[in-house]
Amino acid sequence: MASLFRSSLSCLRAAAFVCLGAVTSLGGTASAIAQSNVPIVRDAEIEALVRDYARPIFKAAGLSKSGIDIVLVNDPSFNAFVAGRRMFINTGALMQAETPNEIIGVIAHEAGHIAGGHQERLREQLARAQTMAILATLLGVGAIAAGAATDTAGLGQAGAGIAMGGSEMARRGLLGYQRTEESTADRSAITYLEATGQSAKGMLVTFKRFQDALSLSGTRVDPYQVSHPMPRERISSLETLAKSSPHYDKSDSAALQQRHDMMRGKIAVYTQGQAAASRLFRKDPRGLAAQYADAQATFLYGNPASALRKADALVKLQPNNPYFHELRGDILLRSNKPAEAAASFAKAIKLDPSNSSILQVAYGQALLTTGKPDNLKAAAAEIRKALARDKEYFNGYTYLAQAYGQLGQVSDAELATAEGYFYSGNYQQARIFAARAQSKMKRGTPPWIRAQDIINYKVPGKKK
Ligand SMILES: [Zn+2]
Repeated sequence: MASLFRSSLSCLRAAAFVCLGAVTSLGGTASAIAQSNVPIVRDAEIEALVRDYARPIFKAAGLSKSGIDIVLVNDPSFNAFVAGRRMFINTGALMQAETPNEIIGVIAHEAGHIAGGHQERLREQLARAQTMAILATLLGVGAIAAGAATDTAGLGQAGAGIAMGGSEMARRGLLGYQRTEESTADRSAITYLEATGQSAKGMLVTFKRFQDALSLSGTRVDPYQVSHPMPRERISSLETLAKSSPHYDKSDSAALQQRHDMMRGKIAVYTQGQAAASRLFRKDPRGLAAQYADAQATFLYGNPASALRKADALVKLQPNNPYFHELRGDILLRSNKPAEAAASFAKAIKLDPSNSSILQVAYGQALLTTGKPDNLKAAAAEIRKALARDKEYFNGYTYLAQAYGQLGQVSDAELATAEGYFYSGNYQQARIFAARAQSKMKRGTPPWIRAQDIINYKVPGKKK
C-alpha cells in the first residue's frame, strides 16, 4: 500500500513536505478525466505561512466564516484559483513570488472572485465535492496541473487538457472569468489590501509580469495567465488605484519576508534540488533561509550526521521555530533514532501555533517506529487525533493502519487502510478493505457504519 501514498518523481518523500502525489480519480465522467490527478503537497510550514497570508484578507472580504481551505498544488507553473470552498495555489506561484506581498495580492484577487460570487453555480457544485479526488474529477484540473508539471511547455499540455472535453464546461468556467468579473475582483482586492494596511504593489508586479510575457505561442505560459488576461487598460486602472493608497510603498515585515524566503528555499530544494535553492540565495548565501535550504538539501541528498549538525545550528539560531525541530525529527527518523525523533517532533508540536496535523502524524510515525508497545498505543492515538481534524491527509492512514496492525487490532487496521484509499480516490480498494474490516466488526457500531458508508459511496458522475 505504501506505494499509493508515495509520490511522483519530482517530489522526494520526507516527513516535511509530504507530496501526496497523484490523487487518482477513478470516477471520471470521461476517460480523459479519469486519469486526472491533483498533485498535492502537504507541508506544515508552508500551509501555516500561506494561511497567515490569507487570514486577514479573508477577514476583510467577509469570508472568515466560509471555511475556505487552501490547497497547495505541486506544480512549477504560476497558478492560483478557487474551486468551491478551496483555494488552490501552485508551489510555482509561491516560488516565483519574491515577496509575501506578491502572493498576498493574488490571494486578495482570488478572494475577490469568491466574495463577488463569480461563477456561483459552478462553485456550489464544486463545494459539494467531498474529497479532493472527486474535485479533480469535476474540474479535470489534474489534466491541467499534471500537464504543466511534467512538461516545461506547460501550455501545450494544458491546451491538450482543455481540448479533451469531458468537464470542458466546468474547466472553462473555472479558467475564464468575464472581463467585468476580473475588474471587480481587482477592485475588491485593492479594498482588502487597503483594509489590512497592505500595498497592492505586489499584485501589480505579478500582473505586469504576465502582461509582459503574454504570448500564447511561447514555450511556457503559466495557467494563471491564460485564465487572467491582462489587457493594458486593466493594468493601468489597477496601477492608478494601487498608487493612490497611502500603503503603496509599505513593504512586508522583515520577519515575514524571512519566512517567505525559507518557504521558497524549501520548495526549491524539494522540487528542484540543491542547485535551484543556491540560485535563489545567490545574493545572500549565508542568510538563514540559505542555511535552512542547505540543511534540508543535506538531509535529502547528503550525509545524515552532517544534516543533523546543520539542523542543530538552526535550532540554536531560532530555538522557537517549530520547523527546525521538525527537520531535526526527520533527520533522526531517517537515521534510525525514532525515540529522539519523537522528542523533536513533540517540541515542534508544542511550538507550532497552527496546530498542524502533519506534525502530529510525524510524531505518531516516530513513536510507531520505536516499536515499543506503549508507544504503539500513543502513536495510534496521536495519528487518530490528527486525522480527526484533517481527514483528507491520507498519508496518515498508512501509519494508523501500521500502528493498529502492530497492536493486533486487525479490523481497525483494515478500516484505516480503507479510509486511506477512500480519500486518495481509490474507491475500489477502499470498498475491498472496508468490507474486510466490516466482516470482523459488530453490526451497527460506529466503525461498522463508517465501513458501510465507504462501501455504499457513490462516485458522483459515475454511471454504474
Ligand atoms: Zn481573476
